[in-house]
Parts: sequence; C-alpha cells; structure tokens
Amino acid sequence: MGRLVRGLAGDGAFRVLAVETTDAVEEARRRHGLSPTATAALGRALTGAALLAFLLSKTPRERVTLKIEGEGPLGHLVAEAGVDGRVRGYVGHPEADVPLSEKGKLDVGRLIGPGELRVMRSLPNGEIYDSSVPLVSGEIAEDLAHHLLKSEQIPSAVLLGVRVSPEGPVEAAGGMVVQVLPGAPEEAIARLEENLKDLPGFSALLKEKGLTGAVREVLKGLDFEPTDLGEGVQVRFACRCDREKARDSLRFFGPEELREMAEEGGAEVVCRWCGEVYRFSPEELRALIADAGREAREG
Ligand SMILES: [Zn+2]
Repeated sequence: MGRLVRGLAGDGAFRVLAVETTDAVEEARRRHGLSPTATAALGRALTGAALLAFLLSKTPRERVTLKIEGEGPLGHLVAEAGVDGRVRGYVGHPEADVPLSEKGKLDVGRLIGPGELRVMRSLPNGEIYDSSVPLVSGEIAEDLAHHLLKSEQIPSAVLLGVRVSPEGPVEAAGGMVVQVLPGAPEEAIARLEENLKDLPGFSALLKEKGLTGAVREVLKGLDFEPTDLGEGVQVRFACRCDREKARDSLRFFGPEELREMAEEGGAEVVCRWCGEVYRFSPEELRALIADAGREAREG
C-alpha cells in the first residue's frame, strides 16, 4: 500500500509532502492495459493529484481532478484523488507509446504533446474550483509546479517519478512537493536547487531508499524533520463505480435498444475510470424495460 510522509526542512524554510504510489500505478497499468510511457504519464498524474489533494484539501471529502488535453498520441488524461488516499484515472489511448528520449527515459512530454492542464477541486461547500494553465513541458511535474505558483500562489518544487520494468510491472512510483515558505533564506533555496540538479530521479531514489530515505536524499543538508508518517493513510487505486451505477447507466437507452441488447444475449457496461466490466443478462435487461414502462405509466 502506498504511504505518505509530511515534514519541515531547512529550519522552517520548506514544507514537505511526499507520497508513494507504486501499487496504485501498477493497478492502473494492469486495469487499463497501459503502454510503458502511458503508465508513466497516468502514474505521474495520479501521484500529482494525490499530492495536490493532501496539500490543498481542508476537509476529508474534498477531491482533486487533473485533466490534460494534449495534442500527442495519448489523447486526454484524467486523474482524480481524495484525502482518503483513493486515486483513479484513465487516458484516451492506453496503448499509445513513443520511443525513449535521447537520455533513454520514457518520453512523457512527447506522448502528451502540447496542450492544457486543468485542475479542479471540489470544495467543502460543494463548489468546484477550476483553473487551467497551458502545459509547460507535458512532463507533468513541471506543469504542476507552474499551476501551484500561478493559481495557488505556492512557490514549490514538484518531483514525480514512475519506473516501469521492460516486462511491464511498475517497480516504483511516487512524488514529492517542496513548498517554499515565506521568508525562506536564500542559502536554503540555493541548497535545495543544488540538490535537485544532482538528483538521479525520484523513482530511482524511491526504489533504492524507500519513501523517507528518498525525501531525506532530496533534502540532504537541509535537516528534514518528519511531522507525519501517514499512519492510517493508504494511497491506492479505488474506483467509486458499482453494479447499481452501471445498471442506472443502461436506463439512458430506450426500450427498443434494450430489447435489441437482450436479443443479442445481454449487455456490458465498462467503467471508463477503472475498466471494470459489468455484464447484464437478457432477463435483467427485460426487467429494466418493465421498470421503464411502469415509471412511464405512473409518471
Ligand atoms: Zn470504475
């Protein structure tokens, strides 16, 4: 299960939040049949959504949704996360892939292409806070840092990493936000920038040192002090679909269409968020037709 770490560093110069999402991203890969680069793209977005949810939410029910509309082969990307640690998401073309970059890395920026990042937050009063920024690089971490600065006035560094083995499974995934607090001394900021420059990549650190070890490495020389080790928080892929919601979606079809589906042996409803398949037998479809008829007569 994924974990969370919060803390302070640089003698009060930085607020730090990190999450480990390996299992959640692997579940997303498996459920959607994502290519290696698509796994990295959705994995980074799911991790970024989780970071924003833990960073910005004030009440347990709030959720953060990231939507990316890119012109690249991946098509759109949607990732959602809540403070309860549940994440879910999907992409337009899960099978789409691009060659490795010149540095031998999964080329997420190229798979996504130029476009726009939209961040939506459900607030406690039921309102939706919605803001968009153009993609800076399509690499997502940089784009989220840009969003945090422009829309939330939070100067920060964002690190996101997904490491996928050539055979498929996700070896390590996670991310970290280092928020620069007002009055942070120049030397501390310079040290952080220096550390970030030499970093081998967050997923490599995560795999080698674990979550707290990775955070300590990023903040080397800046006295990281954990304040919360996320006991009780489990970051995991979890959808909110169920059989009843799937059945409800069939009610949009007219009796004629439902009858046709029944004659063809039944219907399948696929949840786009998680890929779960719900099958409905001809008998269940006929029951829906009867329901609709009853409602029409009573209504
Ligand atoms: Zn679902």
